[in-house]
Amino acid sequence: MFKFILPVGSGSSLCRDCVSERCRVLRLKKQLDEDYKEISNLVKRATSDGYWVSKPSLRSWRQLALEQLEEDEEESKHSNGQTNGQGPHINNKFGMEANVGTEDETKTFNEDIVCTHGALSILETERKLVSTEVWTKLREYFPRAPEFTHMQEPCRQCLTLEQEEKDNEAVSKMMALEQKNQLLNLFHEKNRPVLTKWPQVKRRAVDCEAFNFQFF
Ligand SMILES: [Zn+2]
Ligand SMILES: [Zn+2]
Repeated sequence: MFKFILPVGSGSSLCRDCVSERCRVLRLKKQLDEDYKEISNLVKRATSDGYWVSKPSLRSWRQLALEQLEEDEEESKHSNGQTNGQGPHINNKFGMEANVGTEDETKTFNEDIVCTHGALSILETERKLVSTEVWTKLREYFPRAPEFTHMQEPCRQCLTLEQEEKDNEAVSKMMALEQKNQLLNLFHEKNRPVLTKWPQVKRRAVDCEAFNFQFF
Protein backbone atom coordinates (compact mmCIF):
# COMPACT_ATOMS: atom_id res chain seq x y z
CA MET A 1 0.00 0.00 0.00
CA PHE A 2 2.84 2.37 0.91
CA LYS A 3 4.18 2.05 -2.62
CA PHE A 4 1.21 3.89 -4.15
CA ILE A 5 1.50 6.90 -1.86
CA LEU A 6 5.20 7.54 -2.59
CA PRO A 7 5.53 10.27 -5.22
CA VAL A 8 7.33 9.20 -8.34
CA GLY A 9 10.88 10.42 -8.65
CA SER A 10 11.14 11.67 -5.08
CA GLY A 11 14.06 10.96 -2.79
CA SER A 12 17.61 12.15 -2.75
CA SER A 13 19.16 9.51 -4.98
CA LEU A 14 19.02 9.77 -8.75
CA CYS A 15 17.46 7.09 -10.86
CA ARG A 16 19.40 5.34 -13.57
CA ASP A 17 18.01 7.53 -16.37
CA CYS A 18 18.92 10.71 -14.51
CA VAL A 19 22.48 9.51 -13.98
CA SER A 20 22.96 8.61 -17.62
CA GLU A 21 21.45 11.95 -18.69
CA ARG A 22 23.86 13.78 -16.43
CA CYS A 23 26.77 11.80 -17.84
CA ARG A 24 25.64 12.57 -21.36
CA VAL A 25 25.62 16.31 -20.63
CA LEU A 26 29.09 16.16 -19.06
CA ARG A 27 30.43 14.27 -22.08
CA LEU A 28 28.91 16.84 -24.43
CA LYS A 29 30.41 19.73 -22.47
CA LYS A 30 33.84 18.13 -22.69
CA GLN A 31 33.37 17.56 -26.41
CA LEU A 32 32.26 21.18 -26.80
CA ASP A 33 35.46 22.44 -25.17
CA GLU A 34 37.54 20.33 -27.54
CA ASP A 35 35.58 21.38 -30.62
CA TYR A 36 35.78 25.00 -29.57
CA LYS A 37 39.57 24.87 -29.41
CA GLU A 38 39.81 23.07 -32.73
CA ILE A 39 37.40 25.38 -34.56
CA SER A 40 39.12 28.47 -33.14
CA ASN A 41 42.35 27.26 -34.74
CA LEU A 42 40.74 26.12 -38.00
CA VAL A 43 38.95 29.42 -38.72
CA LYS A 44 42.26 31.27 -38.64
CA ARG A 45 43.16 29.68 -41.97
CA ALA A 46 41.81 31.49 -45.02
CA THR A 47 39.56 29.48 -47.32
CA SER A 48 38.18 30.19 -50.79
CA ASP A 49 35.32 27.72 -50.57
CA GLY A 50 33.12 26.21 -47.88
CA TYR A 51 30.24 27.96 -46.13
CA TRP A 52 29.20 31.43 -45.03
CA VAL A 53 29.06 31.91 -41.28
CA SER A 54 27.84 34.96 -39.42
CA LYS A 55 30.72 36.67 -37.61
CA PRO A 56 28.69 37.40 -34.45
CA SER A 57 27.48 33.77 -34.40
CA LEU A 58 31.03 32.52 -34.85
CA ARG A 59 32.14 34.63 -31.90
CA SER A 60 29.38 33.36 -29.62
CA TRP A 61 28.75 29.81 -30.84
CA ARG A 62 30.22 28.16 -27.75
CA GLN A 63 27.84 30.13 -25.54
CA LEU A 64 24.90 29.32 -27.83
CA ALA A 65 25.75 25.61 -27.71
CA LEU A 66 26.08 25.68 -23.92
CA GLU A 67 22.72 27.40 -23.54
CA GLN A 68 21.14 24.77 -25.77
CA LEU A 69 22.69 22.01 -23.72
CA GLU A 70 21.56 23.53 -20.43
CA GLU A 71 18.03 23.94 -21.77
CA ASP A 72 17.95 20.24 -22.64
CA GLU A 73 19.32 19.37 -19.21
CA GLU A 74 16.73 21.53 -17.47
CA GLU A 75 13.90 19.96 -19.38
CA SER A 76 15.02 16.42 -18.62
CA LYS A 77 15.02 16.95 -14.84
CA HIS A 78 12.34 15.16 -12.88
CA SER A 79 9.83 17.27 -11.07
CA ASN A 80 9.57 15.85 -7.56
CA GLY A 81 6.21 15.13 -6.07
CA GLN A 82 4.58 14.09 -9.30
CA THR A 83 1.87 11.61 -8.31
CA ASN A 84 -0.12 11.17 -11.45
CA GLY A 85 1.50 7.83 -12.09
CA GLN A 86 2.35 8.62 -15.69
CA GLY A 87 5.97 7.64 -15.13
CA PRO A 88 8.95 9.81 -14.43
CA HIS A 89 10.16 10.55 -17.94
CA ILE A 90 7.04 11.92 -19.57
CA ASN A 91 8.31 15.46 -18.87
CA ASN A 92 11.57 14.79 -20.62
CA LYS A 93 9.92 13.58 -23.79
CA PHE A 94 7.37 16.36 -23.98
CA GLY A 95 9.98 18.93 -23.05
CA MET A 96 12.30 17.88 -25.82
CA GLU A 97 9.53 17.73 -28.38
CA ALA A 98 8.30 21.18 -27.41
CA ASN A 99 11.83 22.51 -27.71
CA VAL A 100 12.34 21.11 -31.19
CA GLY A 101 9.03 22.49 -32.40
CA THR A 102 9.48 25.97 -30.93
CA GLU A 103 10.24 28.65 -33.49
CA ASP A 104 10.56 31.60 -31.14
CA GLU A 105 14.02 30.76 -29.87
CA THR A 106 15.82 33.93 -28.97
CA LYS A 107 18.84 33.26 -31.14
CA THR A 108 19.74 30.68 -33.74
CA PHE A 109 23.20 30.14 -35.11
CA ASN A 110 23.74 31.97 -38.41
CA GLU A 111 20.33 33.67 -38.38
CA ASP A 112 21.88 37.14 -38.55
CA ILE A 113 23.12 36.63 -42.12
CA VAL A 114 19.59 35.84 -43.31
CA CYS A 115 17.77 38.86 -44.76
CA THR A 116 14.07 39.66 -44.35
CA HIS A 117 13.41 37.72 -47.58
CA GLY A 118 14.97 34.57 -46.12
CA ALA A 119 18.01 34.76 -48.40
CA LEU A 120 21.70 35.48 -47.86
CA SER A 121 22.29 39.00 -46.48
CA ILE A 122 24.11 41.49 -48.71
CA LEU A 123 26.21 42.74 -45.78
CA GLU A 124 29.49 41.04 -46.64
CA THR A 125 31.35 42.44 -43.64
CA GLU A 126 29.02 40.52 -41.31
CA ARG A 127 29.95 37.08 -42.64
CA LYS A 128 33.02 34.92 -43.08
CA LEU A 129 33.82 31.88 -45.20
CA VAL A 130 34.73 28.78 -43.22
CA SER A 131 35.91 25.42 -44.51
CA THR A 132 33.55 22.49 -44.96
CA GLU A 133 35.33 20.81 -42.03
CA VAL A 134 34.45 23.69 -39.70
CA TRP A 135 30.88 23.92 -40.99
CA THR A 136 30.31 20.19 -40.47
CA LYS A 137 31.44 20.50 -36.86
CA LEU A 138 29.24 23.55 -36.22
CA ARG A 139 26.28 21.86 -37.88
CA GLU A 140 26.47 19.06 -35.31
CA TYR A 141 25.60 21.63 -32.64
CA PHE A 142 23.15 23.62 -34.76
CA PRO A 143 21.48 21.21 -37.19
CA ARG A 144 18.79 23.76 -38.08
CA ALA A 145 21.17 26.66 -38.75
CA PRO A 146 20.61 28.38 -42.12
CA GLU A 147 23.17 27.04 -44.60
CA PHE A 148 24.84 29.04 -47.39
CA THR A 149 27.65 27.64 -49.52
CA HIS A 150 30.35 29.93 -50.92
CA MET A 151 28.50 29.70 -54.27
CA GLN A 152 25.39 31.33 -52.82
CA GLU A 153 24.49 34.70 -54.39
CA PRO A 154 23.36 37.43 -51.97
CA CYS A 155 19.64 38.31 -51.99
CA ARG A 156 18.55 39.88 -55.31
CA GLN A 157 15.65 41.77 -53.74
CA CYS A 158 17.96 43.36 -51.17
CA LEU A 159 20.43 44.35 -53.91
CA THR A 160 17.63 45.98 -55.93
CA LEU A 161 16.37 47.86 -52.86
CA GLU A 162 19.88 49.02 -52.06
CA GLN A 163 20.32 50.33 -55.61
CA GLU A 164 16.99 52.15 -55.46
CA GLU A 165 18.00 53.76 -52.22
CA LYS A 166 21.26 54.95 -53.75
CA ASP A 167 19.39 56.37 -56.76
CA ASN A 168 16.94 58.19 -54.52
CA GLU A 169 19.79 59.66 -52.51
CA ALA A 170 21.44 60.93 -55.71
CA VAL A 171 18.19 62.54 -56.84
CA SER A 172 17.69 64.16 -53.43
CA LYS A 173 21.21 65.58 -53.53
CA MET A 174 20.65 66.98 -57.02
CA MET A 175 17.38 68.58 -55.97
CA ALA A 176 18.95 70.11 -52.88
CA LEU A 177 21.73 71.59 -55.00
CA GLU A 178 19.26 73.03 -57.46
CA GLN A 179 17.18 74.49 -54.65
CA LYS A 180 20.31 76.11 -53.24
CA ASN A 181 21.09 77.65 -56.61
CA GLN A 182 17.55 78.96 -56.89
CA LEU A 183 17.82 80.57 -53.46
CA LEU A 184 21.14 82.12 -54.43
CA ASN A 185 19.53 83.51 -57.55
CA LEU A 186 16.75 85.03 -55.49
CA PHE A 187 19.31 86.50 -53.13
CA HIS A 188 21.22 88.13 -56.01
CA GLU A 189 17.98 89.38 -57.43
CA LYS A 190 17.22 91.04 -54.13
CA ASN A 191 20.58 92.78 -53.95
CA ARG A 192 20.52 93.91 -57.55
CA PRO A 193 20.50 97.67 -57.83
CA VAL A 194 17.13 98.92 -59.03
CA LEU A 195 15.96 102.10 -60.62
CA THR A 196 12.40 102.17 -59.45
CA LYS A 197 10.73 100.45 -56.55
CA TRP A 198 7.49 99.21 -58.02
CA PRO A 199 8.68 96.97 -60.93
CA GLN A 200 11.22 95.27 -58.69
CA VAL A 201 8.59 94.10 -56.23
CA LYS A 202 6.49 92.79 -59.06
CA ARG A 203 9.40 90.90 -60.54
CA ARG A 204 10.25 89.21 -57.27
CA ALA A 205 6.72 88.08 -56.74
CA VAL A 206 6.80 86.36 -60.10
CA ASP A 207 10.10 84.71 -59.33
CA CYS A 208 8.80 83.36 -56.04
CA GLU A 209 5.82 81.92 -57.80
CA ALA A 210 8.04 80.20 -60.30
CA PHE A 211 10.14 78.86 -57.44
CA ASN A 212 7.12 77.49 -55.61
CA PHE A 213 5.75 75.93 -58.73
CA GLN A 214 8.95 74.06 -59.37
CA PHE A 215 9.51 72.66 -55.93
CA PHE A 216 6.22 72.24 -54.14
ZN1 LIG B 1 15.25 10.04 -12.95
ZN1 LIG C 1 16.68 40.15 -49.06
